[in-house]
Amino acid sequence: MIPYGKQNLNQADIDAVVEVLQSDFLTQGKKVPEFEQTVANYCHAQYATATNSATSALHIACLALDVGQGDWVWTSPISFVASSNCALYCGAQVDFVDIDLDTGNLSVQTLEQKLIQAQKENKLPKVVIPVHLAGQSCDMQGIHALSQTYGFKIIEDASHAIGGRYQAKPVGSCEYSDITVFSFHPVKIITTGEGGMALTNQPELDKKLKRLRSHGITSTEEEMTEPSHGPWYYQQQELGFNYRMTDIQAALGLSQLNRLDEFVQKRNELAAYYNQNLNTELVTPLAQQPNRVSAYHLYIVKLKKSDTNKHKQAIIGLRAAGIMAHVHYIPIYLQPYYQSMGFDSKDFPNAQTYYHSAITLPLYPILTLEQQDYICEILNLILA
Ligand SMILES: *Cc1c(COP(=O)(O)O)cnc(C)c1O
Repeated sequence: MIPYGKQNLNQADIDAVVEVLQSDFLTQGKKVPEFEQTVANYCHAQYATATNSATSALHIACLALDVGQGDWVWTSPISFVASSNCALYCGAQVDFVDIDLDTGNLSVQTLEQKLIQAQKENKLPKVVIPVHLAGQSCDMQGIHALSQTYGFKIIEDASHAIGGRYQAKPVGSCEYSDITVFSFHPVKIITTGEGGMALTNQPELDKKLKRLRSHGITSTEEEMTEPSHGPWYYQQQELGFNYRMTDIQAALGLSQLNRLDEFVQKRNELAAYYNQNLNTELVTPLAQQPNRVSAYHLYIVKLKKSDTNKHKQAIIGLRAAGIMAHVHYIPIYLQPYYQSMGFDSKDFPNAQTYYHSAITLPLYPILTLEQQDYICEILNLILA
């Protein structure tokens, strides 16, 4: 079976992990801060907090922005459930903003209409979480402009997008957001096994993120509410978690980072080859917008015409031919857990159309041209 995604590890990655295994610190050593600093520098952001997953990073990002009971958090319905679960963990309520059908990203026009309506009902969101689907940045400048008018905070779910660019800067610069989150799950662009990171340019948010990652505890004397009892002293100041990344993982991440640009370039080349060789009378790749470089976590095409049956048959046919085609994503509001909150799919017509037409084809750096030719041939045959 040709998988839809796959990690790429070399001997240097393995050596980096072994070196930590032979050192004194498996966790809470030097590798985590080094990894954080290197990612922050790469992204032109001030601060970074490594976590044990992007899900954890999204959770503490919401908490750092004071999301709690009575608050609304909005995100895209075409994402992994973690993008909205993070708000539920905080006791907030979730709503979804329908997508732009060409890119699959949250539609800024729909966001604006929804904000106008929410203002009338006094239900404006505290936080909006745009998701950079497949690795292409959302219209962050447009979303940021709306945040200034309507007073919400922004967390970029950039789980797909490390190594991508928006305008003149790397995704993760937080130029138009409060916090940006990356995932290092093996299927993503670079991996730490499991892992995530939250970047910000705001020192107060960074302090909160670091406290929440480690039980709400601080060992910094200036942050304490009373004089230190002695060199052993620490204070728990709020309810946090153990969401720490290990040094074993950070060493792998640091080593993987050396090849990030190479990975992204290769993914872009493979995507271009698909674009040339698929029959564009049958399928349309997700539209690429100007001023962006996609990290191409996923290669997604849509059937020219949304057709529930044809879509299902195409994926079954591809899998029968040994090609692990997938759908990213099932709209979150269709999940039974979310259905019980009363969501109506009629409120998200574009997400519905997208769901019945999107096909993820295999994409990872060591995918060969022969494999791509085979995938194109089978898909063209099935759809013809
Ligand atoms: C993978 C993913 C996550 C969760 O990442 P983990 O590191 O597995 O917790 C969140 N959001 C999106 C869009 C993702 O693709």
